[in-house]
Amino acid sequence: MIDFNRPAIVGNELNYIRDAVNQGMLCGDGKYTKLCSAWMKERFAVSQVFLTTSCTHALEMAAFLSDIQPGDEVIMPSYTFVSTADAFVLRGAKVVFVDIRPDTMNIDEKLIEQAITEKTKAIVPVHYAGVACEMNKIMEIAQKYHLKVVEDAAQGVEAYYYGRALGTIGDFGCYSFHETKNYTMGEGGALVFQKNEYQEKAEILREKGTDRSKFFRGQVDKYRWIDYGSSYLPSEMNAAYLYAQLEECEKINRKRHQIYDYYHTNLENLEEEGKIERPCVPEGCVHNAHMYYIKVKDLQTRTRLIAYLKENGICAAFHYVPLHSSPAGQKFGRFNGKDVYTTKESERLLRLPMFYDLSVQDQEYIVDKIQKFEF
Ligand SMILES: *Cc1c(COP(=O)(O)O)cnc(C)c1O
Repeated sequence: MIDFNRPAIVGNELNYIRDAVNQGMLCGDGKYTKLCSAWMKERFAVSQVFLTTSCTHALEMAAFLSDIQPGDEVIMPSYTFVSTADAFVLRGAKVVFVDIRPDTMNIDEKLIEQAITEKTKAIVPVHYAGVACEMNKIMEIAQKYHLKVVEDAAQGVEAYYYGRALGTIGDFGCYSFHETKNYTMGEGGALVFQKNEYQEKAEILREKGTDRSKFFRGQVDKYRWIDYGSSYLPSEMNAAYLYAQLEECEKINRKRHQIYDYYHTNLENLEEEGKIERPCVPEGCVHNAHMYYIKVKDLQTRTRLIAYLKENGICAAFHYVPLHSSPAGQKFGRFNGKDVYTTKESERLLRLPMFYDLSVQDQEYIVDKIQKFEF
């Protein structure tokens, strides 16, 4: 059976975990957390990086730091993972869903402005498959209406928009290092931002509401309870795994792009024959080969294709059930405007196996089977 995903192991993961254990300090913010943060600051040209226990938690921090209050409205696509919405619902916000663009599956930037009311506080673009949303337009709208922008860049680590790293363009960016993502620590994530004014609040929030970070820097002589907080620090063992992956980021990236390009080239004829559609990467976007998906005619064809691939030992996966059609989405949100593409496009989309270890032979086998399918 060819898996849909397997976490990468590229080299020093176990060595660094052993070293982390030998450091005699396993809690957060030790050697490896610092190495990971420094690496990201430099690579992504961002001034603040906080490693977290998940992207979900990074989103929670971003919602808190954006000062989201009960009754506030937050605009996002319905075609996303539940955490994008959960983080804001936790603060009592109402989620306002906007339709997506069929070419990238990202929020349609042209529909955002008409969803804004006087309660709107934030826009949450989700960079699906590591392909950027139209950030220039989104930032322009946010400035005009004084809204915060929280980028869900869970899938967008090491992807760029006109030269800027995804996650570093809005007020806050949230990364995921879950094992299904390009670079991993099992479970984990990061909150990144440019404005130093949020640093102190972020530290306190992440450290149970205390000024413990200041205490460790010798800036206060005891640490106290300062404000509301939670615990968002991953352990050093997880950070050690991640650091080994970040160091080999280009190796992972190259391999994923090779797989992406192989699928893209070898399925082109099916697109020309009108049987499938392949993903699109707009101008200015450098993607990170997070995923390879195809879109087929309709839900029925997709269901048949998944079953056919499974019979042939290949795991392919559909993706999100739109949030506005799920029970919590109906309770906590509303869809603004018409759902022209969200449901229709999500029902046609199928993700093919994509992971670091996927062999060339398996790639050939997968393409061969898809070519032989009766669309
Ligand atoms: C994976 C993912 C998340 C959640 O990431 P975790 O690290 O598992 O919390 C959130 N949003 C999107 C778009 C994702 O793909």
